Amino acid sequence: MTVRVGEAAQAPDFPSASHELLQNAQLRRNVRRATEVIRAKRNRVVAETPDWEELREAARQIKDHTLRHLDFYLEQFEENCSRAGGQVHWAQDADEANRIIVEILQERGHKEVIKVKTMTSDEIGLNAALEGEAITPYETDLADLIVQLGNDRPSHIVVPALHRNRNEIRQLFMEKMGLKELGDRPEDLTAAARAYLRDKFLRVEAAISGANFAVAETGSVCVVESEGNGRMCLSLPKLLITLVGIEKIIPHFTDLEVFLQLLPRSATGERMNPYNSIWTGFSASDGPQEFHVVLLDNGRTNVLADADAESAGRAAGTAAAVMSAGVTSAKDTLDCIRCGACLNVCPVYRQTGGHAYGSVYAGPIGAILTPQLQSMQHSQSLPYASSLCGACYEVCPVKINIPEILIHLRSKIVEQGAAPLSERWEMNAAAFTLARSNRLAVAQKFARVAQWPFERDGFLHNLPGPFRAWLQSRDLPALPKESFREWWAKTKRGPGK
Ligand code: SF4
Repeated sequence: MTVRVGEAAQAPDFPSASHELLQNAQLRRNVRRATEVIRAKRNRVVAETPDWEELREAARQIKDHTLRHLDFYLEQFEENCSRAGGQVHWAQDADEANRIIVEILQERGHKEVIKVKTMTSDEIGLNAALEGEAITPYETDLADLIVQLGNDRPSHIVVPALHRNRNEIRQLFMEKMGLKELGDRPEDLTAAARAYLRDKFLRVEAAISGANFAVAETGSVCVVESEGNGRMCLSLPKLLITLVGIEKIIPHFTDLEVFLQLLPRSATGERMNPYNSIWTGFSASDGPQEFHVVLLDNGRTNVLADADAESAGRAAGTAAAVMSAGVTSAKDTLDCIRCGACLNVCPVYRQTGGHAYGSVYAGPIGAILTPQLQSMQHSQSLPYASSLCGACYEVCPVKINIPEILIHLRSKIVEQGAAPLSERWEMNAAAFTLARSNRLAVAQKFARVAQWPFERDGFLHNLPGPFRAWLQSRDLPALPKESFREWWAKTKRGPGK
């Protein structure tokens, strides 16, 4: 089974990638500035919503219920969408989804396709698959267009070009659009993008979109966006293909009432998205005359199956129960509505930016989603890309307990024996030493002598081997001349007391 999740399979691990990106001061400034603006806007609109916590709880419960009955709701969606004239396809993995989409386009002779709001297509590497078959994809969302023209990778779930500043975008547009003059005001840049894209909207007859939600009860699909380019993609071409991860299903149309309040506030700090497009099948008198939905699994049912196995383990009181005790459930990862709020508050993401995560899904949600979609392969380092401060959990509109899932994934890495040999050796040695107080006392005496060449002003410096890297960002106090136990024995229980 092919599970691409962007380019994670080939990407360097998080420590190597982040080490390089931390040297890029301009990128760090761009990321910091952009996330600060979005955070401030989000905090303002959340503060004015009196039932925010109730909305979060409602969203969590809807998602939890849906995932428990996902098979039922997926079939209900297929039935209702088909009845309205849509054609539903099931894709088990990235290759199958790409093949389905390419075949639909080829059978109708399309050589170009416009795209909007489909991060899931980045997950499966759709653009490369299209280009491999001589079909040219054009991204029409402004940020996605910037990423595509720059031959770049997205660095944020909601604002994929967040790592670029206005001047960089201006240079890029001038070079790629062949412009001699261009200002760097937002209106100059959007005017250039509009002129570039207008021709595509009017000429290209096939479109591919993503979806924020798919409603089982009605067979409807919903896309929210801020620019209107999505509306053009969804309404002008003759053929529309919508790629949807199976976790995007919600049971009822009225559930949108909850999510359409939470998503824009969390994502961009808006009370409402300027464009909310909801369509059901097709209409002979308006819009695309052929509509396909590709329902993508690509590892998602494995996440659900793992969660079921863990629940069974807990019920049976197996060793896995100890490992996963207290864990909300890793399947909660699939509750994500891709708002990006957890990225904007994450102290790790705000330093490294999104490219360090090596996947289309960056930040805290990427650190838990990518390893699970990839069955822990190629992503051993991502669950450690967090300080576990809990800021992501506090802002998440569907209450995903990301820190708890990170700890759970870390324990799985250890269980699989994937931790580095040196780390396993260190942990075994620590377990042996800490198991008996007399062993600890001997170790302390030995360490007090061994630390002598490295001690200065009460702190240790220039430790050898892996300890050197550990000390690069931390202070390690030297061991005191006397341990607490020694002091206690002498002063409280010793002779004369
Ligand atoms: S995990 Fe929560 S905060 Fe992060 S993108 Fe998903 S829904 Fe938003």
